[in-house]
Amino acid sequence: MLDTKILQKKNVLVTGSTSGIGAAVAQAFASRGCNLVITGLGELAENQAYAKKLAKDYHIKTTYIEADLSKVEECEKLAKTAISAFETIDILVNNAGMQYVSGVTDFPIDKWNLVLSLNLSASFYLIKHILPSMRAGGYGRIINIASAHGLVASMDKSAYVASKHGLVGLTKVIALETAKENITCNAICPGWVLTPLVQKQIDAIAKREDISLEEASIKLLSEKQPSEQFVKPEDIGALAVFLSSDSAAQITGTTQSIDGGWTAR
Ligand code: NAD
Repeated sequence: MLDTKILQKKNVLVTGSTSGIGAAVAQAFASRGCNLVITGLGELAENQAYAKKLAKDYHIKTTYIEADLSKVEECEKLAKTAISAFETIDILVNNAGMQYVSGVTDFPIDKWNLVLSLNLSASFYLIKHILPSMRAGGYGRIINIASAHGLVASMDKSAYVASKHGLVGLTKVIALETAKENITCNAICPGWVLTPLVQKQIDAIAKREDISLEEASIKLLSEKQPSEQFVKPEDIGALAVFLSSDSAAQITGTTQSIDGGWTAR
């Protein structure tokens, strides 16, 4: 059985933890007794209430920090506020991300810049500002939520695929720079997970092809994911917890696929 006692009272920052995969990852750490920095976009009062509820349900400390991570100064503000709230950040999960779908010649330049800023540059800024705190504590785990699209491409997703391949490259560099310090850096590469980000793509297929949402969902899955089943957000949470345990101390600089066979073919 996996020993996760080491995780008790560790301070964890999960970006995009108000929705989808990030929320599930945050809850997986909460259930191991970790304190949480919750951050994302959306309704401030709702997100603050959500962070408070996690604190109550799991008997942990939480704080909600609002930050638009497509902006460099807000990444810096998030890192500084999180460290001043908890003194250290031991585990950083770079999860916040977005998608934009268009052929390259029509791809709006502002969308390219936005996707690259959020999906790639924000991870660089947060690692840059939080790594010193991990080094001081003698333990650190950095988990970058990349994608199957960090390993292989699909049409019409130039910014997303470029950002996720970039994030995999960043993961390897950070792993090398921290290899002797009880700090690891890995990328998780999920296939399709049913979250608001993917629901938008299912809605678009249904509309474009005049088919039901259920048919659109089967079409989306069958084109890429051989298992034809969605990955569950909580399975990504469990993988993040494993990567943060002592058993994973020698796993660094890797990509962990969790994609129903997507990248096997
Ligand atoms: P989601 O849309 O459910 O959640 C995205 C989160 O990011 C939300 O908490 C949102 O508030 C936050 N966010 C969005 N823009 C932000 C900004 N500018 N600043 C700060 N926070 C912002 O998405 P999800 O499906 O849970 O995706 C999470 C991560 O997983 C993303 O990086 C995504 O690329 C990756 N991923 C998702 C899938 C999938 O099938 N859902 C597959 C592979 C990888």
